[in-house]
Amino acid sequence: MSQPGFMPPNYITMKIPKKLKIGGHVVKVKLLERLDGDGEFDTQSNVIFIDSRLSQSQKEETLIHEILGFQNPSLHSDNHGLLQAIAHSIYQVLSENRMLR
Ligand SMILES: [Zn+2]
Repeated sequence: MSQPGFMPPNYITMKIPKKLKIGGHVVKVKLLERLDGDGEFDTQSNVIFIDSRLSQSQKEETLIHEILGFQNPSLHSDNHGLLQAIAHSIYQVLSENRMLR
């Protein structure tokens, strides 16, 4: 494994915004330590939480996961594995085709 903080020259990172518009809602994105999992979403208060201890790439994939969960709460609760696989696939294509900034 590479050293913490090392990024290969072609590494492209995603902007993790403080707010996102999702389905007509303004959703705050908060980085917090010590979540139960890597991330959480709350459709009642319109917040996505991402664990601040994750690596940059894990934060980015987790953000995609939580966005998909926010958009599809029943899929997130009924078939978490499928939602996780979709998030992973989207993140892989975006990152490996340099579609992130
Ligand atoms: Zn989840």
